[in-house]
Amino acid sequence: MGILKNTACILCNKETVETVQQLKTDAIAALYKNRLGVAISDEFKENNTIDYVKCTSCNLHFFTPICNGSADFYELLQEKQGFYYNANRYEFFFAKNHIKNTDSVLEIGAGSGYFANLLNVSSYVGLEYNNKAIEDAATRNVTLINQSIEDFATTHPEEFDVVCNFQVLEHVPNPNAFINASLAALKKGGLLIIGVPAANSILTNNKNHVLNFPPHHITRWYNDTCHNFEQIFDVEVVEIHHEPVTEKLYKNLKTNTITERILNTFSPKKHILVNDTIASKVDTLVRKLVAKLGLHKNIAKKDLVYGESVILVLRKK
Ligand SMILES: [Zn+2]
Repeated sequence: MGILKNTACILCNKETVETVQQLKTDAIAALYKNRLGVAISDEFKENNTIDYVKCTSCNLHFFTPICNGSADFYELLQEKQGFYYNANRYEFFFAKNHIKNTDSVLEIGAGSGYFANLLNVSSYVGLEYNNKAIEDAATRNVTLINQSIEDFATTHPEEFDVVCNFQVLEHVPNPNAFINASLAALKKGGLLIIGVPAANSILTNNKNHVLNFPPHHITRWYNDTCHNFEQIFDVEVVEIHHEPVTEKLYKNLKTNTITERILNTFSPKKHILVNDTIASKVDTLVRKLVAKLGLHKNIAKKDLVYGESVILVLRKK
């Protein structure tokens, strides 16, 4: 028997979950094979299907049953994709503007410690599961701890001025417990800063976007979910900020916009996974066309609003 599907939302805990699309795990495995050349079918255990669902209370979108990637899966990705972490993420510089030199900072999922290297603060603690990343961080004088935030917070209550995580939340099997533990480690009035891929962005939310499926991503985050944090947790939303679309992504943006429009004529608009033979052919064709005709040079201003990531700044009450 496979893992059971969730009937309650993994963010707000309400029983208001409805299915958007039922996905065959074979089709998800085929997508990973096609696009990245990796074999991942073991990750789904004995589940033949996974539901892509949305919560009608908080609008979190997620995949259930929860099949979050194993350590083997992430090693496989690292082998195929080269090193996984990026030293100069936009959200690092945005978050840094909210951090004072006198602050104590806790980062969850610190990767290779690149954010720590940008900071000049009174104290920094980073948590990380990936041992290769911990070794890499150590070479740049960043010491990371291999521990979960849930465990760490029990021994470090109300200790930090800022708790942050970047590109972590979308991988987390229980975001409610994760956020509550993050808040537990934070002083009253302290800031929780979260960077996640924006589900409003066509750069990260197009059909068959392979890394946006389990076992890699488990949740998708829209703006209204971010605003709903005030109803779910004891926080005040200080800011919700979208990374802008940079010029080097104009070709991708235009390609995704046109490809999405074409694929919507073959299958329901709300479906996120469609036949990948068709999807990848359309994508290849459109990409060539965009480059040849220079279509990316003519993009409407409104299409440049939502870049890859959204950054939430929350204050603990
Ligand atoms: Zn919910």
